[in-house]
Amino acid sequence: MNGPISVLKRPRLAVFELASCAGCQLQILNCEDELIDLLRLVEFAYFKEAMSETSDDYDVALIEGAVTRPADEEKLRVIRERASLVVTLGSCAFPVGIPGLKNTHDLAEVEKLVYGDHAELFPSTQAKPVDAVIPVDAHILGCPIHKDEFVRIVTALLIGKRPPVPTYPVCVECRLKENVCAYDRGLVCLGPVTRAGCGAICPSYGSRCFGCRGLADDPNLPSAEALLEEKGRSPEDIRAEYVLYNGYYTLAEGGLKAKVAK
Ligand code: SF4
Ligand code: SF4
Ligand code: SF4
Repeated sequence: MNGPISVLKRPRLAVFELASCAGCQLQILNCEDELIDLLRLVEFAYFKEAMSETSDDYDVALIEGAVTRPADEEKLRVIRERASLVVTLGSCAFPVGIPGLKNTHDLAEVEKLVYGDHAELFPSTQAKPVDAVIPVDAHILGCPIHKDEFVRIVTALLIGKRPPVPTYPVCVECRLKENVCAYDRGLVCLGPVTRAGCGAICPSYGSRCFGCRGLADDPNLPSAEALLEEKGRSPEDIRAEYVLYNGYYTLAEGGLKAKVAK
C-alpha cells in the first residue's frame, strides 16, 4: 500500500486492462443491484469499458489482464506509483490464465502468427501475472470474477481490512453441496488443488473444476497428479490441465509449484 486512503472524499477507483477478454470488467458492470450503493462510497476515475472521462488521480487500481508487452510493465509501474491499493481482477492478471497459453509456444512464432510480417513493430513478451512486475495488495480470483466477491473485497479494502480469501480447495465447497464427484462421473477435476470461493460452481452444474482460481494454500500436487495418472491421464494431459490456468508457474519454473494468492 502507498499510504492511507483519505476518508474525507470518496475513494477513486481506476480500472485498467492488459491482455484479457474484458469479461471481468463486464462483471463489475453486471453489479446492477449493488452499483448504486457502491457509487455512494466510491467514484470511478477511469474505466474505459464504462465511461469516456479519464483521470490519473485515483486511489485504487483494479487491473484486469496479463502482462504480455514491455509497455505493460512500464504502465504497471506508473499505476503502482499513483495508487494506494493495487488489486488484480480475474485469472488473466493472476495466476495468468488463458493468456499464459502463449507461453506454450515459441515467442517468435506467436508474434509471426499474430502480426505477420510486421511483428517487429509490436514488441511482445511471455505472458506474466501482474504481481511478477509490481507488488499487489489483493487478488480477485476467477475467470470471470464473481460480482459478489468483487463487492466484498473492494468493500473490505476500503475499510482497511484484509479481504477474506479461502485457503482450502474447491472440493470442500463441492462436498458441502453434496455434488456427485466429477471423478465418479468419468471426468477429471482440479478441485482438490484449486482455491475455493466460487461455491464449486462448475461441478455443481455437471462440469468439473478447471483451476481458474489458482492453487489453494499448500496444494497436494503430487497426490493430485497421481489421481490424474490413475484415471489414465498421460504426463502431457496432466501438464495441459495445469497449463490452462496455472501455466505461468508450471512453465516458468520447470515444474508444478505452489504459487498462491495470499
Ligand atoms: S479472467 Fe477470464 S473473464 Fe476475466 S478477462 Fe481473463 S479470460 Fe476474460
Ligand atoms: S467434483 Fe471436483 S471439486 Fe467436486 S469433490 Fe470431486 S474432485 Fe472435488
Ligand atoms: S469450479 Fe474451478 S473452474 Fe469453476 S469457477 Fe470454481 S475454481 Fe473456477
